[in-house]
Amino acid sequence: MILYSTRNKSHRVTLKDAVIRGLAPDNGLYMPTEIKPLPEKFFKSLPEKSFSEISFQVASHLIGDSLPVTELKRIIDHTIQFDAPLVEVESSVYALELFHGPTLAFKDFGARFMSQLLGYFAREEKKEIVILAATSGDTGSAVANGFLGVKGTRVVVLYPKGKVSVIQEKQFTTLGQNITAIEVDGTFDDCQTLVKKAFQDEELRAEFFLTSANSINIARLIPQSFYYFYAFSRLMHLKKPVVFSVPSGNFGNLTGGLLAKRMGLDIAHFVVSTNKNDVVPEYLQTKKFNPRPSVQTISNAMDVGNPSNFERILEIFDNDFEALSNAVSGFCISDDETRNVMKQVERETNYILDPHGAVAYAGLKKYLKGKDQVGVFLETAHPAKFLEVVEETLGRKLTLPDKLADFLRREKKSLRSSADFAAIKKLLVNTLSVAD
Ligand SMILES: *Cc1c(COP(=O)(O)O)cnc(C)c1O
Repeated sequence: MILYSTRNKSHRVTLKDAVIRGLAPDNGLYMPTEIKPLPEKFFKSLPEKSFSEISFQVASHLIGDSLPVTELKRIIDHTIQFDAPLVEVESSVYALELFHGPTLAFKDFGARFMSQLLGYFAREEKKEIVILAATSGDTGSAVANGFLGVKGTRVVVLYPKGKVSVIQEKQFTTLGQNITAIEVDGTFDDCQTLVKKAFQDEELRAEFFLTSANSINIARLIPQSFYYFYAFSRLMHLKKPVVFSVPSGNFGNLTGGLLAKRMGLDIAHFVVSTNKNDVVPEYLQTKKFNPRPSVQTISNAMDVGNPSNFERILEIFDNDFEALSNAVSGFCISDDETRNVMKQVERETNYILDPHGAVAYAGLKKYLKGKDQVGVFLETAHPAKFLEVVEETLGRKLTLPDKLADFLRREKKSLRSSADFAAIKKLLVNTLSVAD
């Protein structure tokens, strides 16, 4: 597989380089030079195949020439260790539950696949690869759990003290092994700035092999196409057009779906559902892309004002606005609407939506109005991950899933630092030098 940078078509790299670097040197995003449709017989056989068989075939079609078959098989088996069930919430409306992984959010798919792929490529490197991640919660937990115990890699998570939920904090501060958490006396933006400074620091770069695991990495996007195929395979017998609604922030999840469509999956339409951070729905209406600072909402994993995968979306449609706006509709859902939908769906169907899934559900219903189509909304997190909002909205207590209760029982271990770069640098040097 050869990839190019969205900012320079003639800058080309291997999958290994794209995964290790994350971002292209010109700050563009890596995209495959070729995305070919899968053969007819693959689609015919979809309903009989398991989730991991489907995932393996899609992956080998896309990246099979970049690593040995046995390795790819091992990586897929490790990534797809939990199901992504479709639950019919009401007639012709399905939740695709992507929260059955270790940290109960869809980011587990991307993080697990990326960690294995990077671990494989790291074996050819002399130095340990250090993954630096700033987190406001979900990314840190998925990345830390994904990389836990992966040989040749080490993860350092920087997070703002007192600004992530207790559940989230426990998911990346209690793991030990190759995972280190640094609690920074500052904001999420401070953490992100510190990580950026670390990448630019010549001394650190000379000493350590630093890379990032944020959602711009192509390795996180590839597995996010698998579950579109899987969900679709389970709906083919209905013989109706299938629409997917994606609750979006950085639009990586949507990009996974668009890749699936480019590989020949007959998805009738995409709905992008956002909270008040509606830069993309606005673009779809006005053709103007106007990134701006994010505003805080109850679906906070989607509080993104300048979605990083937007460049990839334009690329997939060859910058053709007509084609893009025919294939994708956008809806902006307010916090009030989100809460109302959560209450209404629970009342009428007993299904408990998390705030992100609720945004997707609301967008889907708006789009489906008057159409005889099947709708799937991506339920990206378990409702208990957003315990306070869900309990307050529904006016009742939730039972904590075992996986979360387990984390809560474990002991937090983190290093402390001020938001001063010199202090962080010293801490990084000390921590990383001690390791083997
Ligand atoms: C990250 C996240 C999203 C947004 O996904 P993108 O790929 O950034 O669009 C939605 N829901 C949850 C629960 C998330 O953690």
